[in-house]
Amino acid sequence: MKKTFLKNASRLLMLTALSTITLFTSCEKEGLEIFDQQEIISKQTRDTYLNLPHDQINSKGLVPVGLAGKVFLRDIKIFYNQVPQEWVTPTNRALTEWSSFNNLLNMRRVFSRADADIVISGEAEIGLNSSPAGADFPDVANGPVGKFVTINLNYDDNQNLALTPNLRYYIMTHELGHNLGLTHFDPIGFMAPNFTEVHENWGGISPTEANTISETLFPIDPR
Ligand SMILES: [Zn+2]
Repeated sequence: MKKTFLKNASRLLMLTALSTITLFTSCEKEGLEIFDQQEIISKQTRDTYLNLPHDQINSKGLVPVGLAGKVFLRDIKIFYNQVPQEWVTPTNRALTEWSSFNNLLNMRRVFSRADADIVISGEAEIGLNSSPAGADFPDVANGPVGKFVTINLNYDDNQNLALTPNLRYYIMTHELGHNLGLTHFDPIGFMAPNFTEVHENWGGISPTEANTISETLFPIDPR
């Protein structure tokens, strides 16, 4: 987790540039309150990367627009596009995890990209060597799930916490949560923006978290 100031500064510069180009705005709750809902919904959004220091998360400035619609959660089809071998089993486990906590949501691997709701790709994220992965939020509230998860091939195991199969499973479960529209601000333990050695022993979605997620993603329609 040790990083020099220079690296942080150059990363920050790059992220600031990215923010400018893509008109990303802050993902802080204060930021959300500045913009009205219509503006937020019109933006393409991207996950903040897991394990970035908080100031960098802010500078990347991503705005979740809302949760995916219930109808899009029943059968989420996922294509593995050049997923590194060491991520395949952890990713399979994450899909099983998301499919197991209630009977309303299902995720499964498909072998045709054309059929997929989510594409998981290994990509070298320039300047982001402390972030193992990222994901897209839904483009619109109540719409389809976010389309991509990125496994960062530039994650530096020497400078950062070395990834293990269990940590990859934890990280992938987290990222897929973003595809559904969950954010770092939701009261769900594994959606917190950082991971540590402790998560090596993560026991999966807890009953309490399962209830919170179910109530969040599948609210009872008011009558
Ligand atoms: Zn995240």
